Amino acid sequence: MEKKNCIISLQGVSKVYNDTTVVSDFNLDITKGEFVTFLGPSGCGKTTTLRMIGGFEIPSEGKILLNGEDITKIPPYKRPINTVFQRYALFPHLDVYDNVAFGLKLKKIPYEKINRKGEKVTKLRHLSSKEIDEKVARALKIVDLDELEDRDISTLSGGQQQRVAIARAIVNEPEILLLDEPLGALDLKMRKEMQIELKEMHKKLGITFIYVTHDQEEALTMSDTIVVMKSGEIQQVGTPLDIYNEPVNAYVANFIGESNIYNATMLANKQVRFLNHAFDCIDDFPVNEKVDVVVRPEDVILTKVTGEADKNRVCGRIDNKIFKGVHYEYIIMVGKNEVIAQDTKNREVGDMVYLDVDKENIQIMKKEVTKNVFTDAWINKRNEVVISDFPFAADVTQLLPGSKLDEDGYLVDKDGVRYDLTDADVIAEIGLNDIELSDNTEEGSATGTIVDIVYKGDHYQVMVRTELEDDFILDTMYSWNINDIVSISVKPESIKLTIKGDIKKYVYE
Ligand code: ADP
Repeated sequence: MEKKNCIISLQGVSKVYNDTTVVSDFNLDITKGEFVTFLGPSGCGKTTTLRMIGGFEIPSEGKILLNGEDITKIPPYKRPINTVFQRYALFPHLDVYDNVAFGLKLKKIPYEKINRKGEKVTKLRHLSSKEIDEKVARALKIVDLDELEDRDISTLSGGQQQRVAIARAIVNEPEILLLDEPLGALDLKMRKEMQIELKEMHKKLGITFIYVTHDQEEALTMSDTIVVMKSGEIQQVGTPLDIYNEPVNAYVANFIGESNIYNATMLANKQVRFLNHAFDCIDDFPVNEKVDVVVRPEDVILTKVTGEADKNRVCGRIDNKIFKGVHYEYIIMVGKNEVIAQDTKNREVGDMVYLDVDKENIQIMKKEVTKNVFTDAWINKRNEVVISDFPFAADVTQLLPGSKLDEDGYLVDKDGVRYDLTDADVIAEIGLNDIELSDNTEEGSATGTIVDIVYKGDHYQVMVRTELEDDFILDTMYSWNINDIVSISVKPESIKLTIKGDIKKYVYE
């Protein structure tokens, strides 16, 4: 269903270049007068989508409607759409006025005339110089360049040149203006000023703006609606506030603003475990569901360590601080997890602090579990990986391509440099099919209790919780029972290890 007042509707639009899909099943309705921003990292398909709206590319599949009419294959010059590019091609030998008037001088408009036979016919004519004057004056006023119309392009700043480019695009009075990273070539200060001005222009013009950027702050500042994209697909569509406060997944949360994102497990109704602590929350997810939790740095409240540990409170040690003008940004270690927090109070590195998070500020997102990821594993002196306090035999040579273990247990790289990995922090990943269970608790490397079993059509997904409340998830053909105490075995080659930080700090002199 199209939205009311919909000006552009993209329906199942895809674009494939040489067998590579760069935009996939894109569905979006844009309302008249809306400021919509396509936001995502470089290469995610933003420009391609914009170019299809402009008519510079034809979709491989799907259609594009303008005011309800199919324009998928209509050439750009027949669309009431204009584009402002990052690299604005102005004519350096013409002044501001002539740059803006250039298109108008070539343009022909239809008019009606009575011919000799007394019939009404439609003819084309050029615009009069008075009409051109009026249109140029209006466009230059909107971009705030009305005083500079006689200036040579080469004497203008980058920001002023970009405004000329915008004036040239709006002088034709398009219904839609497409802007492809138009501020990308400007320095930071100019970019900030132009963001505010563009928003003003949008208000004055009252037309639809479709804007492309990879800069989340720019998107948040200017847009009515943000479309967050990843690998040619829409992740989320919403107002800046929606997208900031209610990201649908960890990708969006990460892209929009600085965030703390943690692997977490629902422990009970409205209770979630992360940072080794059970927090109250307001979202209702099934018990034992694996989720991602987002906490914004500004929502972490720091206080002095006095008094009781509270429900939604953990304790940490300040590891780093940066002064950000109005507030400090602190990196705080809570166990082996980092928490980013903002606070106006000046605190010292090394201080212990309480971190409080209101339950309303704990954003929970569904997670598709595809493997087990243990982010606070470490290597012991026998080169085993310790997960949830249980040692697992693992292949540590994968931490350094081309390395070997010598007879003393040091890792030796191809140049003969030795590394002592004892206590090295690592991330350990184990596939869902790489874990074997046994009811003989002596058999495996770790033990735990089965807390959840879900039938997945042709197999069971079982969750085993250790005493330290870490969860191992596995797919199995066998049926187990909740509360069974089991042991876990994993083949050394099935544990993927990644070092945290630079492996060079473990060089053994
Ligand atoms: P973004 O604007 O998000 O940076 P683009 O839409 O420019 O992304 O590009 C998306 C992907 O499509 C990129 O991988 C890019 O290399 C590819 N691509 C864009 N245009 C073409 C083209 N004409 N031929 C082949 N591949 C292209």
